[in-house]
Amino acid sequence: MGSLSAIAKLDLFSGFYNTINGKLTGTEKTRHGVNPANGKPNPEVPVSTPQDVDSAVAAAKEASKTWAKVPWADRKKAVLGYADALEQHASDFAKLLTQEQGKPIATAELEVQVGVQWLRELAKIELSEEIVQEDNEKQVIVRYTPLGVSVGIVPWNFPIHLACGKIAPSLLTGNPIIIKPSPFTPYCDLKLGELGRSFFPPGVLQVLSGDDNLGPWLTAHPGPDKISFTGSSATGKLVMASAAKTLKRVTLELGGNDPAIVTKNVDVKAAAAKVGGLAFFNSGQVCLAIKRIYVHQSIYDEFRQALVDFTKTLKIGDGNEEGISLGPVQNSMQFEKVKTFFSDIEKEKWNIAVGGVNEEKPGFFITPTIIDKPAEDSRIVTEEPFGPIVPLLEWNDEADVIARANNTKLGLGASVWSNDMEEAGRIARKLDAGSVWVNTHIELDPHAPFGGHKESGIGYEWGVGGLRAYCNLQTLFLKKSASEL
Ligand code: NAD
Repeated sequence: MGSLSAIAKLDLFSGFYNTINGKLTGTEKTRHGVNPANGKPNPEVPVSTPQDVDSAVAAAKEASKTWAKVPWADRKKAVLGYADALEQHASDFAKLLTQEQGKPIATAELEVQVGVQWLRELAKIELSEEIVQEDNEKQVIVRYTPLGVSVGIVPWNFPIHLACGKIAPSLLTGNPIIIKPSPFTPYCDLKLGELGRSFFPPGVLQVLSGDDNLGPWLTAHPGPDKISFTGSSATGKLVMASAAKTLKRVTLELGGNDPAIVTKNVDVKAAAAKVGGLAFFNSGQVCLAIKRIYVHQSIYDEFRQALVDFTKTLKIGDGNEEGISLGPVQNSMQFEKVKTFFSDIEKEKWNIAVGGVNEEKPGFFITPTIIDKPAEDSRIVTEEPFGPIVPLLEWNDEADVIARANNTKLGLGASVWSNDMEEAGRIARKLDAGSVWVNTHIELDPHAPFGGHKESGIGYEWGVGGLRAYCNLQTLFLKKSASEL
């Protein structure tokens, strides 16, 4: 297990390799991502083959025999050392993140910090044995043992944070992990694998990049015992079907269509700026972004104006430029998908409060847009655009707005905006979502469980339960004497 000096030579800008069994490994075929701010190709990365998957799984299986027996304190020490190293390289990781993902450099720096924070905070959690029953004759103990080998499948919106959020719980609980980044954003995750070689024995933290075949190969492979998947609900269903064949454990963190309910008891200007910021953060490409804004009728016009004023202050551009609030959409596929909502503006006769045009630059830029009172059953309300376009809707009856907020197959997050805590708490408790906020949104905590209701996911990550999800539960029934029945 390494030291910071050992990783000082990590070269973040030349050469991107898989990390398999402690070695940096290339592949015959390579591919590249694209810088979404200018359409230019990023460096070549490996396209893993089925043999690479076999090698990584075999190495992880072998490593699990010893890693599972390493004392918790030592595994924790390794994770904390790794966190320090990531922090030491924060600036380089952030630059690389902006180059591959497109987010403004300040947001990229924040994501690296959050990755470090998640590694450190999750390392404070311990899974100790619990005595659940005890009397003179017996003791009943619940304990947690590693599942074996896990696979972490990561999307393209937060490649560092979401990879760290899988690496820490898996490694702390004694399970080697293979990380599979999105083909759109492989760069930082490959470097997370490279960085890990100085802190974890071979096979414990491996990273494979590839094309669209790689995810299905990993989920179908008989070797891994658990898949921790973050991505869309549609892909989550494919992952679960594939994992079912070998009864792999799954944790699925999927899509969201989060409502924000704004009551009349708010400071309109301040609330509008915060709601707007949380709808357009990361150019709307957040599973937990505000995707439907319900505003009380009595303040609707004033709120819309404040939201429009705020939205006009957002500066869009290359994430490396000064003062940029929003970068481009991350990839051409997503760009085309978001543009279909813009095509619907004329077709569906939607009113535009602000925005409404695509900026045709070489990059995938889209002007933040608010659609004013579209029909409740329109695509912009019922689907997750995953881009900077949001519907603004009106309400006047509490029970009705709660029903509308809950009228979706998704249930990831939701928020209530009110200075009346009694009102806010009353509404919040009736919302069907895994995370419900009052007067904020998106804010997560590594000690709190994070997961979705309905088609937003199965299981949850982080907190004590998030670590337990990488474990088998074992109940020990200890009878204190063998002499009696
Ligand atoms: P996606 O489902 O297309 O891809 C996610 C990952 O799965 C990628 O690494 C991809 O290569 C891989 N993949 C694709 N097909 C696969 C298959 N058949 N088997 C195994 N792996 C496969 O999602 P995306 O477009 O990268 O991300 C956007 C979506 O993710 C949005 O719906 C968003 O809401 C959701 N998301 C959810 C969370 C959460 O924590 N709940 C966080 C971020 C994003």
